Amino acid sequence: MKERFLSRAWELERSASIDTYLKLGGYKALDKALKMSQDDIIEEVKKSGIRGRGGAGFPAGIKWGFIPKTTDKPKYLVCNADEGEPGTFKDRYIIERDPHMLLEGIAIASYAIGAHFALIYIRWEYVEGAKILWNAIKEAKERGFLGKNILNSGYDLEIVVHRGAGAYICGEETALLESAEGKRGQPRIKPPFPPTFGLYGCPTLVNNVETLASIPFIIDKGGEYFASIGVEKSTGFKLFAVSGHVKQRGVYEKPMGYPLKKLIYEDCKGIIEDKKLKAVIPGGTSTPPLTAEEIEDVVLSYESLQEKGSMLGSGAIIVMHEDTCMVNIAKKLADFYSHESCGQCTPCREGMPLLRNILTRIEQGNGEEGDIPLIINICEGILGRTLCPLGDAGALPILNYVKKFKEEFESHIKEKKCPFRG
Ligand code: SF4
Repeated sequence: MKERFLSRAWELERSASIDTYLKLGGYKALDKALKMSQDDIIEEVKKSGIRGRGGAGFPAGIKWGFIPKTTDKPKYLVCNADEGEPGTFKDRYIIERDPHMLLEGIAIASYAIGAHFALIYIRWEYVEGAKILWNAIKEAKERGFLGKNILNSGYDLEIVVHRGAGAYICGEETALLESAEGKRGQPRIKPPFPPTFGLYGCPTLVNNVETLASIPFIIDKGGEYFASIGVEKSTGFKLFAVSGHVKQRGVYEKPMGYPLKKLIYEDCKGIIEDKKLKAVIPGGTSTPPLTAEEIEDVVLSYESLQEKGSMLGSGAIIVMHEDTCMVNIAKKLADFYSHESCGQCTPCREGMPLLRNILTRIEQGNGEEGDIPLIINICEGILGRTLCPLGDAGALPILNYVKKFKEEFESHIKEKKCPFRG
């Protein structure tokens, strides 16, 4: 796919301004959507096959369809811009470089579900992004694309930006809703799910930034066209944030099904200092790593990565070369997830710090015989036993590091030092 949509304006001067967006045909999809029935819009999104780009990969059209058509409560749309997964920075590019694309997507989605109030929950650290969004909302209101009687359709919509307070767990949609309500950001027990019991207990659609920013394209070109791009049930285009040991890091827009090796060796120009590739984290740190051998035939799709025992996640690809210490990586993960645990469930709250302590002592040359089975045992005790996915997000990758790079862990324990530090 030569055509770019999500990233088409990024290199342009003043790409965040409404004038640039309008020159590129912006807000035409909103005009088209406002003349369509709400059911037809949802049908188009279903036809596109687009799956949530935040990490879970749930089909967006089906999620939209869960919002009750008739209810005596207000309905809300919440845009999840709490992009906190380590290695993920693609939503930031949309927010800072093309915010009107996101606002147009939010307006179409809000109209489709019958919401008149939308909230963008943005992570605390995106200070510039929040300012850019506020300015874009102001511009869109002045031009009649938001606010009262949008484009003379009789439809009203207000969008506000709500800044988070710096907690990774608020990327989980129910923790996000709690936080947006002014409470402590902790995941709720489910069911009920947000489409029936969301913000303030009202029907709420929660979608990721990239998912919503893709909606204008789907409405403009049609769901079938979007579905014709990609492979299997991984349709359309997607942003991939590549970091780590590649020569050219950045955010790349690619059709689903694009070969991972091609992305690393052609788009990103290969590994720094031409070193040997050791492993790749394919979808953010909560996805299990793949070894260099495992990525040989991997394409960027939900199915291909699942076949290899990992996940596409948020599309955050972290590349690691031969000099990377896997004990150190696993320790950093345990450190991060123990810090970010909200503390509600025992396996996550107690298990993550335990893992961090064991991995720290191994890395420092104080590992003990029995540490490896102990790590495996703790990970297995966390997996599937927690309220929200954070428990698995920490335990599953750590389990994979230990199993796939066992010799490295054993060498740390036996030699009483980190082989990568000499
Ligand atoms: Fe909180 Fe961790 Fe339980 Fe999630 S898994 S609810 S973050 S304690």
